[in-house]
Amino acid sequence: MHVDSTLSLDQVAAGTPALTRLAAQAEVRSAPPPKDDGPLYAPRRKIYPQSVRGLFRRIKWAVLLATLGVYYLLPFVRWDRGPNAPAQAVLIDLPNSRFYFFFIEIWPQEVYYITGLLILASIVLFLMNAVAGRVWCGYLCPQTVWTDLFQAIERLTEGDRRDHLQRDGRKWTADTYARKALKHFLWLMVAWWTGGAWVLYFADAPTLVKHLATLQAPFIAYAFIGILTFTTYTLAGHMREQVCLYMCPWPRIQAALTDEYALNVTYRYDRGEPRCAVSKANELRARGEPAGDCTNCKQCVHVCPTGVDIRNGADLGCIQCGLCIDACDAMMTKLGRSTGLIGYDTDINIKRRMEGKPGFVKIMRLRTALYAAIIAIAGGIMIFTLATRESEGLSSIHDRNPMSVRLSNGAVRNAYTIRIVNKQLRTRDFILAFNGLPASLIDFVGVPPREDGQLLIDVGPDTTREVRVLVTDYGDTPPASTPIVFRLTDVATGEQAEARDHFFGP
Ligand code: SF4
Ligand code: SF4
Repeated sequence: MHVDSTLSLDQVAAGTPALTRLAAQAEVRSAPPPKDDGPLYAPRRKIYPQSVRGLFRRIKWAVLLATLGVYYLLPFVRWDRGPNAPAQAVLIDLPNSRFYFFFIEIWPQEVYYITGLLILASIVLFLMNAVAGRVWCGYLCPQTVWTDLFQAIERLTEGDRRDHLQRDGRKWTADTYARKALKHFLWLMVAWWTGGAWVLYFADAPTLVKHLATLQAPFIAYAFIGILTFTTYTLAGHMREQVCLYMCPWPRIQAALTDEYALNVTYRYDRGEPRCAVSKANELRARGEPAGDCTNCKQCVHVCPTGVDIRNGADLGCIQCGLCIDACDAMMTKLGRSTGLIGYDTDINIKRRMEGKPGFVKIMRLRTALYAAIIAIAGGIMIFTLATRESEGLSSIHDRNPMSVRLSNGAVRNAYTIRIVNKQLRTRDFILAFNGLPASLIDFVGVPPREDGQLLIDVGPDTTREVRVLVTDYGDTPPASTPIVFRLTDVATGEQAEARDHFFGP
């Protein structure tokens, strides 16, 4: 379509909607390019977060103690599984390919439970996000928790925001160096213990601690402790908010998942603006002119661990930790004003209040109901399959070359490798039988049949046993392929497992 370039934009805009669009595009094309002379690299602005007291700070301390307590102490929790199994409640037993979680034992072929758990965890994350924004980022994410701990150590050694800023701004003295040295030493100790706790999940913790202390532990344990000490020290001590701003994909994903009904840490600009000092606000109000409740004290900015000014609106850098709520509430309380200038609120509420309508919180929405339903269904399926999973397993692999052999007496023989899994912590006796070929016999290679002719095989506790099985058909020449079924029966309990395969003719 051609647009007459002699028409003015106003004339075009007065025309059809299509022309209006074209006019707008032409305007954009003819507009001068935006100035692009800013630096491509923005140097990092060091953040000195100020300590704060309040509800959300207390919640964060509680979460920090609970999560770090679990992480550091869990490897030492014992769980009696009997004489043939490890006594550690949570253990990733790589040499034996097992994962133990209290009463649950996951075998390598059951790794789909871990996949299911990860899917479940991600949907829970989506639900948390739909209800109350970045709860994960603000309270539970390991980066947040360790950074919080490292910042607490920093305040302990270098003082709170003002002292720290002043000391860094002055010429460094012996005291400054001593404080910084102590801080880095404590950081390294925490980082070292974090790496140390990680490797304890992969071996019997008390034994490994002894071996580590006496330098008898395997090299890989020391290597992993070293790597994790370095990453914890670097990420929580030095990179801090940079991880959230530049490395983590979750802020971008969550921005796409949120909606106007999600509760987020929000500056209620309808109440806070126009900002003015207390005396000025009193003057304006006395004259009947509007004055907001925000005094521009910047306490909310000073306590922010990522350096965000929440008053500028939603920001990817805001991890929704709620500390600015505590800071602003303290300021409002001091001024005798009602708290909540910054609080958990929704976009829709701000819009409604501007229109003079009351706000509301709507937790149950289509997306939250959908997430909750998926969690309930997936969780239910996982619990059901875990509760009803069998403690024995059977699989068969047919010999490929040759597929079948004709014996000198005319019979046809096929060979299989049968794998029997015993997931119980005791030795079990199994009888292996098969059907599908009426005139046939089954033999174990190297295992004689019992007197009654049945094939009995014992499998040790929590192990797998492979046996070679020969099936010989003495009937008429079998067809090219006949389906057969191997059946395993526990002699003591009668529990059964089956494996399907084929018998091939010559
Ligand atoms: S703006 Fe507030 S909620 Fe967001 S990260 Fe900073 S202190 Fe936490
Ligand atoms: S703490 Fe509250 S009053 Fe102070 S600048 Fe922030 S929003 Fe305004």
